[in-house]
Amino acid sequence: MSPVSGAGHSDQYLCVQKHVEYIKNLDSRRDELEYWLTEHLRLNGVYWGLTALHLLGCPQALPREDTINFVLSCQRENGGFGAAPGHDAHMLYTVSAVQILVMLDAVDELEKRGLGGKQKVGSFIAGLQDEKTGSFMGDEWGELDTRFLYGAFNALSLLGLLDTVDVPKAVAYIQECENLDGGYGIHPGAESHSGQVFTCVGALAIAGRLDLINKDRLGGWLSERQVDNGGFNGRPEKLEDACYSWWVGASLAMIDKLHWINGDKLASFILRCQDPENGGFGDRPGNMVDVFHTHFALAGLSLLGYDGVEEVDPIYCMPKAITKRLLK
Ligand SMILES: [Zn+2]
Repeated sequence: MSPVSGAGHSDQYLCVQKHVEYIKNLDSRRDELEYWLTEHLRLNGVYWGLTALHLLGCPQALPREDTINFVLSCQRENGGFGAAPGHDAHMLYTVSAVQILVMLDAVDELEKRGLGGKQKVGSFIAGLQDEKTGSFMGDEWGELDTRFLYGAFNALSLLGLLDTVDVPKAVAYIQECENLDGGYGIHPGAESHSGQVFTCVGALAIAGRLDLINKDRLGGWLSERQVDNGGFNGRPEKLEDACYSWWVGASLAMIDKLHWINGDKLASFILRCQDPENGGFGDRPGNMVDVFHTHFALAGLSLLGYDGVEEVDPIYCMPKAITKRLLK
């Protein structure tokens, strides 16, 4: 697929500086109600904001030392990370912590100032693998979800510790989640959903087992997610949403089928979701912006090779330059 050129959208352009300012200002709103309502998302929020800033070409826009200090302050005695200081450890926040430290080139801070170094983080994650099924739980309470399996593979491979878990068993579990329509569900027998497709395909990519996927069948189901206005929905009959630009687009990229969708129409839909006045992206044109959709909208534009957006790694959802250097 040829890269989408920003010049092709004369009525629409990416408001880079507005988005950078929007993300930088997220942390200065501590007195606002919204800040406290979203406290449980804080470590994830830092990952979304930091990745978006990297993709916008402003990786230094957040203060590095403060960011590292905040990440380390979220670690618990069991090695995992909570959403914010004092919160229980959970897989999803632990993955964000690892990704943030990798992006800041600060994984060695785990050895210097963390609790038990990267081995301790790895053992928290490995301890969440379910012996019976090979899948992963989010925390000690035991809910299984392919999101957690993907997260475990993502963080462990970034730490060089993927061999501490039973990879073949987890891969077999993913295969059980595959449906006849080519998609994947949250557990065996559950309907296909593009969020789950992304996590299953991403985990297979990290395991080096993309050969197990029926790429034509899955590519067909994924490309049917594009609706008339250019956006993607998560499953049939649902509304389009800017964040599915990522879940669907990255899945297509991993199986080399991104050229099966209309990239120009998708880029145009994503750009209509931005707030050109105050920065940030919402789920649909005209809706309230948030850092989650800002991050995934930019990552979607990056997949399309959009002018002025840095290249994203479709497997890790991190800047490609960083994963390439780390995982070579
Ligand atoms: Zn969304």
